[in-house]
Amino acid sequence: MKSTIVLLGPPGSGKGTQGEKLVNDFGYTRLSTGDMLREAVRNQTELGLKAKEYMDAGALVPNDLIIGLMKEKIAASSGKVILDGFPRTVEQADALGAQLDVDLALNLDVKDEELVDRLTKRRSCPNCNSVFHLLYNPPKVDGICDKCGAELYQRDDDKEETVLNRLRVYHENTKPLIDYYRKKGTLVTIEGVGDIDDIFEKVKEAIQ
Ligand code: AMP
Repeated sequence: MKSTIVLLGPPGSGKGTQGEKLVNDFGYTRLSTGDMLREAVRNQTELGLKAKEYMDAGALVPNDLIIGLMKEKIAASSGKVILDGFPRTVEQADALGAQLDVDLALNLDVKDEELVDRLTKRRSCPNCNSVFHLLYNPPKVDGICDKCGAELYQRDDDKEETVLNRLRVYHENTKPLIDYYRKKGTLVTIEGVGDIDDIFEKVKEAIQ
């Protein structure tokens, strides 16, 4: 089984959802830069204060803030690891490659039109980071996280104006990583559309 997985794919493509399923079923450790940054913003740490304006605008946080943070988290983790939301630039991918070998870059492919719908109707848990969709994956109790019972919220950057910018940033900065990992021979692309469990079946094949 693959031990170091990078989840590629645009915002809203299901990286968090599929990543969590891999954590639950196969014991991976999931490192999500987005979750780490949101926690830093909530706790008003130095990193959080610096990152907030970029995140609110749907822009990328500068590489120098994120690369060091991820290096530490990777060094402190043990066992099989999933990187969700990192790398997002070629510079980040080079820094990661200098630290460890990526066994699999899993690219979840979803069209922009669908992503806008998914992101604007997404609701997130501030406590355990689970994600739901108002129509396709609603929580069992309205507004409450199935997993931990916390009250769900809409991320500021899931509002439509910011979503459009995040997609633009994805195409410009992160999409080139598809070719980057294809050249390294570790890329697998899965269509990230349809039933979550059906997509997970394909994900499970890819990690073997
Ligand atoms: P996500 O939860 O992965 O959609 O990330 C939310 C926001 O956090 C992004 O829109 C960026 O502002 C920031 N962010 C997350 N990961 C990175 C990264 N690897 N590099 C730069 N900014 C990031």
